[in-house]
Amino acid sequence: MTLLRIEHLSKSFDGVKAVHDVSFSLEAGRLLALIGPNGAGKSTCFNMINGQLRPDAGSILLDGKSIAGKHPRDIWRLGVGRTFQVAATFNSMTVLENVQMALLSHERRIFNLLSRVASWREDEAMMLLDLVGMSMHARRSCAVLAYGDVKRVELAVALANRPKLLLMDEPTAGMAPEERNALMALTARLAKERNIGVLFTEHSMDVVFEYADTLIVLARGELIAQGNANAIRNDPHVREVYLGTGASFSPHAALERGAAQ
Ligand code: ADP
Ligand code: MG
Repeated sequence: MTLLRIEHLSKSFDGVKAVHDVSFSLEAGRLLALIGPNGAGKSTCFNMINGQLRPDAGSILLDGKSIAGKHPRDIWRLGVGRTFQVAATFNSMTVLENVQMALLSHERRIFNLLSRVASWREDEAMMLLDLVGMSMHARRSCAVLAYGDVKRVELAVALANRPKLLLMDEPTAGMAPEERNALMALTARLAKERNIGVLFTEHSMDVVFEYADTLIVLARGELIAQGNANAIRNDPHVREVYLGTGASFSPHAALERGAAQ
């Protein structure tokens, strides 16, 4: 069954159609990139799927069941994980404690004292940290980690909930190109291995073309194209939308521009 099916989704803010009649679907184990210029409606789409916004119209089906308008916590419990939110990790805790906390909340345990966390699920938490290449940093405080490493801990935290679907809104914002590639390569590998569907937005076209199985292009709230990297790269309507936005559209464009400067 299709993991995520979006049909005729719409949302307006004060008469402005942020998302208008958008339909698409995502299969388990696949990476789908939502791209488009600033203000295209990407985050609004994400926030309807994760429950932060209620759609004005349309349906959102996870494994065939409607999740539109449900509480974010209930959507999370149904297996929709989010990464890369501000303050997704707690700086006052170690890397390991952050992942243990996530495992505990997955089990819906109630606990009051952090000291009680210490021995819970340590092996499983370490296994998740190993998966994202962070086990050697397990005992360090999250506050001292490099930016790219925080993102990897956030990925481990999201995986603790055993998500079916991962939503990543600009996961690599602020990262250097090499870090971006490493994070997305890791995400793509985990998506395949764990059969997780990944929906992500990303500004770097190089990253999108490299890692997305399918791309969806939004412009002014409307879906204007969808297809694989080749189809999107050569779509005249998409090129037109991107003209003048400053975004490089061929993987080589940025290099060529850089060389010309
Ligand atoms: P993107 O993520 O593609 O940059 P957004 O989904 O954030 O685009 O925004 C789409 C449109 O909706 C923009 O015109 C934006 O100004 C508007 N918008 C988004 N969120 C709100 C909000 N909470 N209140 C009012 N307008 C909003
Ligand atoms: Mg956005």
